[in-house]
Amino acid sequence: MADNPKSRCPKEFFDFVVRRGLRQTPQRRAIVELVVSTRQHFTAEQLYDWARARDASVSRATVYRTLTLLTESGLIQELELGKEVKYYDPNYVAHPDHNHIICLDCGKIIEFDSPEIDQQAQKIAQDLGFAVKSRRLQILATCDELQKTGHCSRKAD
Ligand SMILES: [Zn+2]
Ligand SMILES: [Zn+2]
Repeated sequence: MADNPKSRCPKEFFDFVVRRGLRQTPQRRAIVELVVSTRQHFTAEQLYDWARARDASVSRATVYRTLTLLTESGLIQELELGKEVKYYDPNYVAHPDHNHIICLDCGKIIEFDSPEIDQQAQKIAQDLGFAVKSRRLQILATCDELQKTGHCSRKAD
């Protein structure tokens, strides 16, 4: 697991923060550490809960501001799931071309890699005279539980 983002110090991110003329506070550091150590796709509110559990002085505003900075720096990526809440993908730098399958009801997200899809995307682009720069596939689906029981217990609301 040489490519594990967990072991990567987000120095690039703090350089980015400093270039923006912002301070590197302990609260901001706590938030960034949480983000780089998770494989889960999360919402801003989830991140706020995690951050509060670690450091009660973290404010919601700091979480939102730091998330914006993390997205702008390219360390994480916003996922368009067609939902009101935004989800963030922490596994973007290490695996920029991974795919997602997402439950339409509870929002459960599973990542997967597919060399076949990668090849197919290359081929389609080539045939059309394009060169692939990045690629994203999202499959919107019903999760196992929704199919079995007609209800997702993970659904928050
Ligand atoms: Zn992902
Ligand atoms: Zn579901």
